[in-house]
Amino acid sequence: MKQMYINNTWVDAQSGNTRDIINPYNQKVVATAAEGDVEDAKLAIDAARKAFDNGEWKDTPGAERGQKVLRIAELIERDKEELAELETLDTGKTLEESRADMDDIAGVFRYFAGLADKDGGEVIESPIPDSQSKVVREPVGVCGQITPWNYPLLQAAWKIAPALAAGNTIVMKPSEITPLTTVKVTELMEETGFPEGVVNLVLGAGATVGNELAESDDVDLISFTGGIETGKKIMQTASGNVKKIALELGGKNPNVVFADADFETAVDQALNAVFFHAGQVCSAGARLIIEDSIHDEFVEELKTRAARIKLGDGFQQDIQSGPLISAEHRDKVESYVEIGKQEGANLLIGGARPQDEELQDGFFYLPTIFTGCTSDMRIVQEEVFGPVLTVERFQTEEEAVQLANDSIYGLAGAVFTTDIDKAERAASKMRMGTVWINDFHPYFAQAPWGGYKQSGIGRELGKPGLEEYTETKHIFRNVKPEPIHWFK
Ligand code: NAD
Repeated sequence: MKQMYINNTWVDAQSGNTRDIINPYNQKVVATAAEGDVEDAKLAIDAARKAFDNGEWKDTPGAERGQKVLRIAELIERDKEELAELETLDTGKTLEESRADMDDIAGVFRYFAGLADKDGGEVIESPIPDSQSKVVREPVGVCGQITPWNYPLLQAAWKIAPALAAGNTIVMKPSEITPLTTVKVTELMEETGFPEGVVNLVLGAGATVGNELAESDDVDLISFTGGIETGKKIMQTASGNVKKIALELGGKNPNVVFADADFETAVDQALNAVFFHAGQVCSAGARLIIEDSIHDEFVEELKTRAARIKLGDGFQQDIQSGPLISAEHRDKVESYVEIGKQEGANLLIGGARPQDEELQDGFFYLPTIFTGCTSDMRIVQEEVFGPVLTVERFQTEEEAVQLANDSIYGLAGAVFTTDIDKAERAASKMRMGTVWINDFHPYFAQAPWGGYKQSGIGRELGKPGLEEYTETKHIFRNVKPEPIHWFK
């Protein structure tokens, strides 16, 4: 039984409602979680508001805040195996992936711990004689934080670590279908020891708990990671008190491969780009944009390797990919595959559920590749968020960049070529928050992450990831105060 954490106390939902948490590999119930509602969200917001306004945490020196955030990193490292197992139980991803996530997560807490005391403000030159000016950064206040199910704890870490390092108080709401690791890390934050009301966790649905976080006048900032339609809704709801918003939304990320790319590297990475975590990655390289002259050979090789991807139980060592997160999500992926077929894309491989006996209880879907795609197709434009690759072809560098940018999204993209000038030219023209050259997927705490265009607003990670959780204040001091007699 997983409870909520409000004002340093573990509690059930006011209503007493609960929700079963399902392992997507076999649909077995792995836990029961409190199912909070608007009332519970209000209690958590109230606790966070009081904790911020009493100033105890906000006024704690940055170095001390950093020590606490560092302690969370140490506890995550101590309990890494348990956390990784919980993440695999909850999401179906392989244990190896979950372990790598936990290393990244500890790294995120370590990074922001290190930044907690590094911004002591800046003295600026005032153009007014006999005056002094300084610019300081202060915490924003009460932060509502909403996360998705694909990287449950990773996305939570990107929000919790900088918010606490900067001196804010938080109300975290993980995805209702994958709360387990966020609950566990809240236990670790309890063990670390924060003043009452600084850390709050509410569990429950987006439409109730999440909406209250976006709507409440007592929340100063809402940080959301999830789908574009939810993001738009949150933006509207958050306008009630003009709260600050940070949005990390979807992507339909291009992977541009030139004919002069190292073939083996490009094939290997193209596979990884789209099929990692069954394609349930916001930065998945779901659009392969490939130079005409190598198209046939490249696609043939991709097909051969995609057919070899071993699906199954994430706890088993030889498994390369787990299931999709839910029956509902698999339905969505299947409906997109139908759309692709109707649009005239050529289904090269996949496009079905696996037949293997042992996979029948899980929400599995075969790695799928569509060739003959054009950028006016919905299968090319809309985020499927599953193991589905579309292939488009180009003849010139200009065309490659144009196709890469032909999207409402702008989260990430990659370019593969051995001509580094060409790579740099393309990278500078690609309108995305992250561009990888001869690689796909690297992200780390030190580099900002976020989207151009409709992939979001703001940045997580890196220094901007901390700044997101601060207000900037200019303090001006007249060092020789005297009357100015403007009004005689
Ligand atoms: P989702 O939008 O359905 O849900 C995300 C979170 O929002 C959940 O906690 C949900 O309960 C909550 N929510 C739902 N409706 C809400 C509402 N009306 N008000 C407030 N909160 C609400 O997304 P999902 O299906 O959980 O996650 C997949 C999406 O997340 C994909 O589009 C993916 O690209 C995106 N994503 C983006 C990034 C990034 O860094 N840009 C990272 C991971 C996932």
